[in-house]
Parts: sequence; C-alpha cells; structure tokens
Amino acid sequence: MRITALLSRGSAAGELVDAELDDPRPDEVTVRIEAVGVCHTDLLTRKKLGEQPAVLGHEGCGTVERLGPAADGLTLGERVVISFASCGGCAQCRAGLPGYCAWAAALNGSGRRLDGSPTLRVGDEPVFGAFFGQSSFATVALTDARSCVPVGDAPPEVAAPLGCGFLTGAGAVLNVLRPLPGDRLLVIGAGGVGAVAALTALSEGVEVVVVEPVAARRALPAQYGATTVGSLKEPMPTVTHALDTTGRAESITRALTLLQPSGVLALVGLGPAEVALDVRSLMLRGLQVRGCVEGDAEPSALIPELIQRFRRGLLPLDRLVTTYALADFDRAVADQQAGRTLKPVLLPGT
Ligand SMILES: [Zn+2]
Ligand SMILES: [Zn+2]
Repeated sequence: MRITALLSRGSAAGELVDAELDDPRPDEVTVRIEAVGVCHTDLLTRKKLGEQPAVLGHEGCGTVERLGPAADGLTLGERVVISFASCGGCAQCRAGLPGYCAWAAALNGSGRRLDGSPTLRVGDEPVFGAFFGQSSFATVALTDARSCVPVGDAPPEVAAPLGCGFLTGAGAVLNVLRPLPGDRLLVIGAGGVGAVAALTALSEGVEVVVVEPVAARRALPAQYGATTVGSLKEPMPTVTHALDTTGRAESITRALTLLQPSGVLALVGLGPAEVALDVRSLMLRGLQVRGCVEGDAEPSALIPELIQRFRRGLLPLDRLVTTYALADFDRAVADQQAGRTLKPVLLPGT
C-alpha cells in the first residue's frame, strides 16, 4: 500500500516521500500511526547508516488497520502501542525478558524482516525499514501482532513513548533497581528516559537525586520533589541505587563511588565499550553493576501498568511530551538537544 514516510539519509534533513509498504503476512498487522516518539536510538542509527536511505521511528502508536489471518488478540480499529520486536520463542522471550531475545539484533536493526525480505520500497528500491519491527516515522507501519500492546483510549502522544523510552526508564526502576520507600536513587541524565525513571521512583516514595547539566531538564523532576544538581562534581549524598542514562565513563565511575555498600548501579545508556572499574571497591563493598535493555520489561505487562499509573495521576507522562508534525522532525530533534523539549512526539496524521 502507498504510505507517506520520513526518509532519512545520513545527517541530512528528513524528507517526506511516497513509499510502498508490504501487505501484512499472516502474523503481521498494519497500524495507522497517530503518534510516534523520537528516541536517541533513532539518531544513533541514522548516523550509523550513513548515506543509506532509511525509515526510522520505533515508538509508534496508532490504530490497527489491517490484520493478517493469524494475528491473534487484536481487533481492527483498536489503538495499540508498537513496542520493540522479539521472537516469542527463545529462552529469554519465554522467561519474560524479550529485550534479550536471541534474535533481537536482526529483528530490530537489520532493516528487513528476519527472513531478509524488505518491507518498504521507495521508487521500487528497497530501503532500510522494519526498524524495531515497525519503522513508524510514517503514516502507516507494518509490524508483528506480537509487538502490539492495546492501550484503549489512552492519548496517543502520551502512549507512544511507552514503546521504548518511557518503558526503559520506568522498567529500570520497577523491574531492575526496585528501590523501596526511604531509599535514595541517583539518576544521571534527565532526558526522556531519566525523567521517567525519576518520576516513577518519586511516586514510589523513593528519595531522588537528579544530575543534569541542562537547567531546563531539571525543572520537572524538581517540581515533583527530586533534588537536582547540575554536575557530578558537586557535593552529593551517598545513595542506595543509581541509574546512568548517559553511558559516559566518568558518570559510571562517579556513580559507583556514591553508592552505599551493597548498592546497585543500572546502565541504560550506550557509551564507550570499555570503562575502567575499581573492582576491589566493587568486591569489598558488595556493589552490583547491572546492564538493562528496555527496562527488562515484558511490554504487554508494563505498558498497561504505566498507563494505569498515568490515569491515576501517579506518573505525569503528559508533562514530558511536546508534539510536532512529522515534517518537523529536525526541529523536534534540535529542541530535544537544547533541552527545550524532554520527549518530542511526531504526529504523522497532521
Ligand atoms: Zn526471542
Ligand atoms: Zn528507543
């Protein structure tokens, strides 16, 4: 079917083009995209692909438009969030940890289906598509039914980032770190992921310290009760838990020095492959360093839970979001990088 998609090439401005989307296979569906978040991985991938034309976008939310005959559990017209792709059959998927699916890399980052077939063409030429099993910077996305989580009448611009960024921040707190009321959590970096982590922990009665150099990004966590500082070089209390969203070596090593004995540091940001660690200190103080993909979440369980928390007023996700037309992608990215926007969400239907 004909769709409109945001085609990116290297660092050049994204361009709206007509594209041809494959028909759904038996276990696939098409989703008319109402809203799609912009996540850091979109920008990293755009850079990595160089001049290769690609349709990115991996936090889609919209209504189910076409259903393959074996696409169980979904109904036409219902609103879903499209989360990351996983196979559903490997040991990690069966254990409820689809972020570590054996086929995660091929399903989410190869630009094609698992069997190598392309899903998107521009002017008869296949382009990099099926990004995170969706490529949702477009009016319509093709995805596995398995990746879709029904969200009822939740506002699409709030629900969309639950597919990746918000899931990662909230899941790191609720699934991985699990701080208790009275514990103290250090959150390094207060972009979309860090801000959701901080707000989630605050709503659990946890004391939160946020480190973020951009003043505009400190405002929201501060308003909800977090202590905020501009730099890790400032004097800081010790903490029971820490979350690094930056991937920077100096943030990781500083967080470890701030952890109390038996404390845990979770890593959700990608930085340099190697960081020097004081393993004596780790061992003698009983510290843990824990990697974490997609908040260790099973999207079908955590996304509805987070929407419940939003509805009950516990998690002000709407305060993080700023919406843009699909064509305004570059302005959305510039606003995010300057801190004017915490979480840009594109609206392909406008
Ligand atoms: Zn799997
Ligand atoms: Zn993401």
